[in-house]
Amino acid sequence: MRRKPPAGAVSKAPEGLPSPLLENWEWQDRAACKDVNPELFFAAESERGLRKRARELLAKSLCGTCPVRRECATHAAAVGEMYGVWGGVTEEEREPALHARQR
Ligand code: SF4
Repeated sequence: MRRKPPAGAVSKAPEGLPSPLLENWEWQDRAACKDVNPELFFAAESERGLRKRARELLAKSLCGTCPVRRECATHAAAVGEMYGVWGGVTEEEREPALHARQR
């Protein structure tokens, strides 16, 4: 699911984002979700309630088997990822940390 930056990408990342150096993204090659439809991790605009909760539980169950769960969650926290399930953590679960970060 997660994508690497293209080869030859810029050498300096925008502030707050990880460097585009390949070693900073290699964990994605070992992701349990690398061949999974990203829609499992990101809510459609109209998705709410039980449907959203059910999708998130499925995503979290896959994350629970993932060998790079820690790297994924760390990445999402580091960049202030606002959407989707990353490292088994939903956007709502990351919200308090995101708000603290914006203060
Ligand atoms: S922890 Fe979950 S979202 Fe992150 S790479 Fe693994 S399966 Fe994908």
